[in-house]
Amino acid sequence: MGKPTGFLEHGRELPGKLDPSVRIENNKEFVLNDEFGEKIGTQASRCMDCGVPFCHNGCPIGNIIPEFNDAVFRDSWEEAWNILSSTNNFPEFTGRVCPAPCESACVLGINQDPITICNIEKTIVETAYREGYAKPKTPRKRTGKTVAIIGSGPAGLAAAEQLNSAGHTVTVFERDEKVGGLLRFGIPDFKLSMEVIDRKIDMMAQAGVKFEVNAHVGVDVNAKQLRQDFDVILLTGGSTVPRNLPITGRELKGVHFAMEFLGQNNRRANDMDLKTEEIHAKGKHVVVIGGGDTGSDCVGTSNRHGAASITQVEIMPKPPETRPSAQPWPQYPMILRTSTSHEEGCDRYWNILTKEFIDDGKGNVKGLRIADIKWDEPAPGERPGFTEIEGTERVIPCDMAFLAMGFLHPEPHGVLAQLDIALDDRGNVATQGFATNQDGVFAAGDMRTGQSLVVRCINEGRECARSIDEYLMGNTNLEAKADSMMLSA
Ligand SMILES: Cc1cc2nc3c(=O)[nH]c(=O)nc-3n(C[C@H](O)[C@H](O)[C@H](O)COP(=O)(O)OP(=O)(O)OC[C@H]3O[C@@H](n4cnc5c(N)ncnc54)[C@H](O)[C@@H]3O)c2cc1C
Ligand code: SF4
Repeated sequence: MGKPTGFLEHGRELPGKLDPSVRIENNKEFVLNDEFGEKIGTQASRCMDCGVPFCHNGCPIGNIIPEFNDAVFRDSWEEAWNILSSTNNFPEFTGRVCPAPCESACVLGINQDPITICNIEKTIVETAYREGYAKPKTPRKRTGKTVAIIGSGPAGLAAAEQLNSAGHTVTVFERDEKVGGLLRFGIPDFKLSMEVIDRKIDMMAQAGVKFEVNAHVGVDVNAKQLRQDFDVILLTGGSTVPRNLPITGRELKGVHFAMEFLGQNNRRANDMDLKTEEIHAKGKHVVVIGGGDTGSDCVGTSNRHGAASITQVEIMPKPPETRPSAQPWPQYPMILRTSTSHEEGCDRYWNILTKEFIDDGKGNVKGLRIADIKWDEPAPGERPGFTEIEGTERVIPCDMAFLAMGFLHPEPHGVLAQLDIALDDRGNVATQGFATNQDGVFAAGDMRTGQSLVVRCINEGRECARSIDEYLMGNTNLEAKADSMMLSA
């Protein structure tokens, strides 16, 4: 620990951001990290190097946080990079989009603002690229074993980098024209730009990972043939079937799944082929249905389009502003979160029942009938129900609606059907560890767990890579997740 009194002397501070009125003019990242300069060392000095670093346990990949904070405080950036990159394949992604459960678990957070771990992580990786510490992870020798990875989101990419570094010959198959999964065609460019993804993909290609794009396995690439051609198949196709809203008027023009809008916008922002009919929110009264992060991304994107109004509605109650007693530290609390997209402007409502999309008489949506609800106290062991509050039904303007209510499970047809892969009762791929019911076929990421987070998928990819390496070689030397108790001992 560099400075024992750092947390007493300095408060939490993050880099500035472009003003909302400026940043909504384009789809570029807007956090002014480069202007933060030496303040990052001051922020790192707030780390108390606790006996048991709960932040490290809070991080799904077990980032060794106190150690990299100390290195940053001492201005030892290459050391900080070596520590960070030993547990995280993609700090350039998590440093931008991770909700930072580590910060909720930071001991300082009990009675002060936590360390700015996520931003320190981003600064380390950006420094590593600038100074040339970030290098391709090229294996010393090849094993002669081959692995096909189907799906190029964070789970598939993390597994690819790990397995390639262990010497296996890895080919990643992706149905889109570029790799990245939801990193590229889900999360908006203003949170994570495609250049950041390309920089890492180039490095992985230099290390020997092969990428086959426009390769839809189960459709234009035969999955059974892949089984014959490769020693192992890893399924990382994500959780792609969105939850629908089967109310009257769902079929009207102007009602879209969030992903149709968000994926297309990232294409537009990067001068790529839109592939589907244009969805543009300029001048529209937009209603986003679903109060989560995907909904928030629709808000930010609609603001960038110049929507006339943006309303985000959620059926669940408004979360508390501070940590509820039922979710004590170091848990990740379910509290009200105001994203940078919300800062840019929108109306948010909770306890809202969506009842009907209204037709303008020509097949276009022109309004949304909603009503307020009251959640009932559930009987023990039962799910809570709700009642509509009489006299609250009304129609709000809506000429474009985005359904952002989460994802159900992976697509059951195509590759999963072709390989006869067993599913669990939620429709995700059923596994023992990471192994599916078919010998030599593994699964990881959202396809196995259901929708989650980038950092959890990196963890899935890393842990699954260990299982595959062991399957192929009888044992594995790939890094295991470090144990926090051992670290602090
Ligand atoms: C709009 C949105 C915003 C999000 N924002 C955040 C955020 O800010 N922070 C965060 O931590 N998490 C966020 N998430 C969640 C996170 O992006 C996902 O949990 C994560 O990307 C899942 O990773 P994955 O590797 O399992 O699959 P995915 O990222 O879904 O990638 C799967 C890939 O597999 C490909 N594929 C599928 N089937 C086939 C096939 N048969 N053949 C070839 N290719 C195939 C798909 O085209 C896709 O590219 C967000 C999710 C969404 C939808
Ligand atoms: S990956 Fe996420 S949880 Fe882990 S240290 Fe970084 S910000 Fe925290």
